Amino acid sequence: MRLRPLALALLCLLPAAAGAETLLTAARIHTGDPAAPTVQAMVFGNDGRVLATGDAADLARRHPHARRVDVGDATVVPGLVDAHAHLMNLGFSLLRADLVDAASKDEVIARLKAFEATLPPGAWLLGRGWDQNDWPEKAFPTAADLDAAFPDRPVWLERVDGHAGWANSAALRAVTRDLSGDWQPEGGRILRDAGGRPTGVFIDTASALVDAVVPAPDEALRAQALERALQAAVRHGLTGVHDMGVSLADLALMRRFADEGRLPLRIRAYADGDSAALAALCAMGPYTHPGGRLAMHGVKFYVDGALGSRGAALIEDYSDEPGHRGLLVTEPAAFLAAVRKADGCGLQPASHAIGDRGNRIVLDTYAQVLGTRAGGDHRWRVEHAQVVAVDDLPRFAELRVTASMQPTHATSDMPWAGERVGEARLAGAYAWQSFAKLGVPLALGSDFPVESVDPRLGLYSAVTRMDRAGRPPGGWRPQERLTPAQALQGFTIGAAFATREDKELGRLKPGYRADFVVLGSDPLTADPATLPALEVRSTWIDGTPVFQK
Ligand SMILES: [Zn+2]
Repeated sequence: MRLRPLALALLCLLPAAAGAETLLTAARIHTGDPAAPTVQAMVFGNDGRVLATGDAADLARRHPHARRVDVGDATVVPGLVDAHAHLMNLGFSLLRADLVDAASKDEVIARLKAFEATLPPGAWLLGRGWDQNDWPEKAFPTAADLDAAFPDRPVWLERVDGHAGWANSAALRAVTRDLSGDWQPEGGRILRDAGGRPTGVFIDTASALVDAVVPAPDEALRAQALERALQAAVRHGLTGVHDMGVSLADLALMRRFADEGRLPLRIRAYADGDSAALAALCAMGPYTHPGGRLAMHGVKFYVDGALGSRGAALIEDYSDEPGHRGLLVTEPAAFLAAVRKADGCGLQPASHAIGDRGNRIVLDTYAQVLGTRAGGDHRWRVEHAQVVAVDDLPRFAELRVTASMQPTHATSDMPWAGERVGEARLAGAYAWQSFAKLGVPLALGSDFPVESVDPRLGLYSAVTRMDRAGRPPGGWRPQERLTPAQALQGFTIGAAFATREDKELGRLKPGYRADFVVLGSDPLTADPATLPALEVRSTWIDGTPVFQK
């Protein structure tokens, strides 16, 4: 029996016979296995592991009883893994109404009404992205604009730039601080009408008055957030996510999903710093769920801030703010102690470092703690490795530290990164190809929801270093572009290496997990401009489809 894609939905409902094998054929399967890089067929067992790859006729002869799945004129690649992301944050962002580009207050209300249908009763309706400059009247809105449609449910909407919020009267009633009189908070403003009453718009720090009374999400809402994030991920071809900064409560929720068979991808969670999660891991040891979909073997640390807000720690002054060198989120001594603690508990450190000083602190600390193990098979990682002193680039290779980088950060930051750090320091900024040439292991990700969850945009940025509109032509600092094969490796075997799973994930070869994506065209030969629109036809994990278009 030869199943057409339409029959796949049926296939996954059928109880598989014990020992059943599946023979999948496609126009091309990029295996990532240097011994047989491109084949037309693959057999995987009922245990979800690849048994063989090769020629279709040959495999059909050797596996005569395998059920057949032909995905037709499609390209199969190993499952894409986002090596740095935040699932819960993505889920909560998907639980907020999207108001970007709403052309009028009526359109805002229509979008909110449609969104409200997805919310449990009584929950706050949160949204973001409104901009009164897009509306005919161009004046700030008021609580009254929302009250007719939402008399009881609190509504709280963040402006497009994040610097103002718009509340309805139900939200205003929830504010605990007395808003009467004419007082204004430091660094912010409560807009008031002629009678002195708050209109519903809160600027900058004044927004905290409303933020403070938005209820913390309950378990049901948190579960809904995780569910949404997981679905968004598999829809875009992700079979794995390295989730950076997971609390004990988040881990418990993920564990419940794993127990209930609700994880459609593999979460590799990193504990949120020197916290309760780290203490728990030290007590119980690195955690692995028996189903293989969830594990926590590492800890995420923060050394410095971000470049956009000039929080990244630099060795010299910011080029656009003399006298300022950024900030350290964790002092070097405390960071050293935390890395020692993680290491002592058998855990893998993954440390956020954006500025060249932040990166140097991580390298110095890792070298000190690793001692004679530096350069060995420890798999310690630096998250972002965004602006690195040119002299420090080879140290990543010497210490054998993985650079966990996000291609879309470069194409988002390129309009202003040069202003922050100047031309000379750009030589070690977003330096993917420099790292690759030095032999530094590269793991690629998105940092979603800071950037899009869509790994096709990551592949596009990695290969072109252009924005979606094709700017600048030829790419920004094009010498740092990756080849399509390197970009795909970064999202597959590179990510698997970063979690010490490169003998099991990231390739399609015998013994590896049958995690793969069926694409409408070949990302290795497609015109790079078409990568963002690459069709994701289906996403498979352990030999089972978890998403089908
Ligand atoms: Zn992050």
